[in-house]
Amino acid sequence: MIEQGKNRVLTILYVEDNAANTRLIAHLLRSHYGERATLLTASDGARGLELARANRLDLILLDIGLPGMDGFEVLRRLRADEVLQHIPVFAVTARALPEDAEDGIDAGFDRYLTKPISVKELIESIDALIANKRDQS
Ligand code: MN
Repeated sequence: MIEQGKNRVLTILYVEDNAANTRLIAHLLRSHYGERATLLTASDGARGLELARANRLDLILLDIGLPGMDGFEVLRRLRADEVLQHIPVFAVTARALPEDAEDGIDAGFDRYLTKPISVKELIESIDALIANKRDQS
């Protein structure tokens, strides 16, 4: 892998059926990371999996309440895929009960972020991921 240092672009996929949430996250990422982050979006899990297969993703933000297969099923398929299984996946969901978060972590989400999205929590979680990648390279 070529080390691109701090100018390295982060490619993030957001799977979300609510266009307002997609716009919000797009705005947050743009204002925080500018051109260092590229956001791909899908409004259902099937399209999300297609995009995951077609791109080199650094992170997937995954809604749980989705039309067709839900976020748990999308996560299960990602984790069952040899190529995609190591991509970090953060749940981004309105299911905010403590037991929901436990279920989410048990299911294998790397982070469980609840709506309304905390900008600080989202950015800190992504920054931690970037720092982690840097250590590994
Ligand atoms: Mn949803």
